[in-house]
Amino acid sequence: MISDSGDLARIFRDERLVIASHNPGKVREIADLLRPFDVDVVSVASLGLDEPEEDGRSFSENARIKALAAAAAGGMPALADDSGLVVHALNGEPGIRSARWAGPEKNFSRAMAEVERRLVRTDGGDRTAHFTSALCLAWPDGHAEVFVGRVDGHLVWPPRGNNGFGYDPMFVADGRRMTFGEMDPQDKHAISHRADAFRKLVNACFDR
Ligand code: IMP
Repeated sequence: MISDSGDLARIFRDERLVIASHNPGKVREIADLLRPFDVDVVSVASLGLDEPEEDGRSFSENARIKALAAAAAGGMPALADDSGLVVHALNGEPGIRSARWAGPEKNFSRAMAEVERRLVRTDGGDRTAHFTSALCLAWPDGHAEVFVGRVDGHLVWPPRGNNGFGYDPMFVADGRRMTFGEMDPQDKHAISHRADAFRKLVNACFDR
């Protein structure tokens, strides 16, 4: 089975895995994706592990930083997601800074309003965007596999729906009418950037 790098990927044979995220929305989604695979899932918060500094220059680099830190500290394989909203007319912003746009108080109403304010100023009418997710599965010995997924769509205003998290209420995936915030979580999971990356990871690293 081939990894994103084109090499043979390492197979995941453990029974336990730590989800290297302090974001409850992500932990919930990743735990849902792992449910069919009979893996015991623990969160970094329950192990009392701190968040490492995400100073990578790409989603993949940041996912590696988080997964490797959690695998080393937890002494078991770790799965990290680094993701964000890439707005085409804003030269890819907020991108890897998607969480930071919401500030320390994680105010995504404010972050979405900022996206809309800048988008209106561009005046070009291009409201297309995509979500990207880089998933990294890392082992305590420092081995890591990274897989990248995406879902394309466009942004609406005002935001709609209370499901999901982050920028979900303003994102409509191609071919859909409801925002990710309005969709049933299972329907979002079927088409999301995270599910796309997860499918690649499962194909390469799971043989169960
Ligand atoms: P980080 O990967 O923890 O640095 O943060 C990613 C940020 O991107 C999240 O806090 C959200 O703001 C945004 N994001 C990532 N995935 C999603 C998603 O599925 N829906 C909505 N927002 C998302």
